[in-house]
Amino acid sequence: MAEMTLEQWGELKQHIRQTVGQNNFRNWIEPLEFAEVADGVATFSVPTSFLGTYVSQHYGDLILYQISRLDPGVRKLDFRVAANCAARPRQPAPPPEPARSETRLDSAPLDERFRFDTFVVGKPNHLAHAAARRVAEGGETTFNPLFLYGGVGLGKTHLMHAIAWELTEKRPAFNVLFLSAEQFMYRFVQALRDRKIMDFKQMFRSVDVLMVDDVQFIAGKDSTQEEFFHTFNALVDQNKQIVISADCAPGDIAKLEDRIKSRLQCGLVVDLHPTDYELRLGILQTRLERYRDQHPDLVVEPGVLEFLAHRINTNVRVLEGALTRLFAFASLVGKPITQDLTQDCLADMLRSFERKVSLEEIKRKVADHYNIRLSDMVGPKRTRCYARPRQVAMYLCKQLTSRSLPEIGRSFGGRDHTTVMHGVRRIDELRLQDAEIADDLELLRRALEG
Ligand code: ADP
Ligand code: MG
Repeated sequence: MAEMTLEQWGELKQHIRQTVGQNNFRNWIEPLEFAEVADGVATFSVPTSFLGTYVSQHYGDLILYQISRLDPGVRKLDFRVAANCAARPRQPAPPPEPARSETRLDSAPLDERFRFDTFVVGKPNHLAHAAARRVAEGGETTFNPLFLYGGVGLGKTHLMHAIAWELTEKRPAFNVLFLSAEQFMYRFVQALRDRKIMDFKQMFRSVDVLMVDDVQFIAGKDSTQEEFFHTFNALVDQNKQIVISADCAPGDIAKLEDRIKSRLQCGLVVDLHPTDYELRLGILQTRLERYRDQHPDLVVEPGVLEFLAHRINTNVRVLEGALTRLFAFASLVGKPITQDLTQDCLADMLRSFERKVSLEEIKRKVADHYNIRLSDMVGPKRTRCYARPRQVAMYLCKQLTSRSLPEIGRSFGGRDHTTVMHGVRRIDELRLQDAEIADDLELLRRALEG
């Protein structure tokens, strides 16, 4: 296998960008300069040893993995500070970069797509959205800070960017600074190293709105926390708006100083709840509309989005990933998106989100619900008061697990797969005619999924 070239590194970087995201990419990956591969070691020159150490700890595995796919001989990475990097056969020495040692205050780039008009509001996020809207008006500071928290991929960064966009448009004179806690730390460490800490302090204290994303990152990093605390207090004292996000509530961030926790709790703390079906469907519909603007020929059969919203019951990022893959696949094969195509294209994904409900659980829940004994559920009795619950249980087994009809049949006292098929069909008909059955199914499904 050939050695990696500079050009190939350029391509690899794009893969890495997709994995780490634009912000991280800019801060950590872009500054790396590929020097050479020799004796199984890929050498990069880095502007500072801090950056080298950081990249090696946080992205080393990823970079090595990407390189070794191209050149399996590479087993190690080496990061050298630019001036000490002796081996630079393929490119001229970079010019000195004075800008790097300055404490600059340009905001992290805002993502074009993360605006209020692309944010779909639903029950799980409406409070967070309303609070973000309020802050984006840029009027009098009513709550400080606004603290947004929630699990990964639920829209925290999106909302923060949306606030920043809105403010920069509505109040161009405002000095709005958005950055991740990681960048805050990086800049702080840089300022320390360059002995420019006074500049750093002064600059951070001169913003009108400070937004720090993923603040949990600074937990356990003592001097960064300390500095963050002072910056925070200075801005609050001046009545400047602060917006913070984290992956959990202030009180639950481990290794965060108590005084910071209590400061963070002083304003408005709102959480983004896990997505629900309606929100997921809303997001999928919006995405589809936007995609259709560019690809008017795309045909999506009715029911496909509902199917996805139901089956991929996780965060928005994963949901979007699924849709992107589906669109790509459909345009590649030039076919309409049917449920079958969706199942083929996303098989691995769908499997990994399959609810891990067992046949036993389903039978037990259904028996409880209809107040019959489990032994009667799987036993031979054929009167309706047993047969109906049995069919409901079979139906749910088919819907919520990937077990085959014969397997399901066996677990119902050794019944034949045709019996299961008949039961499933019967319930499928009944649920459209009989509201009580439909309610039962919905209730049971929720109980089993929860
Ligand atoms: P977080 O910062 O909470 O991890 P992000 O803000 O990065 O999540 O969101 C992940 C992806 O999901 C982004 O592409 C974002 O645009 C999208 N997203 C999240 N919530 C919504 C929503 N309510 N409406 C539209 N897109 C959303
Ligand atoms: Mg985020």
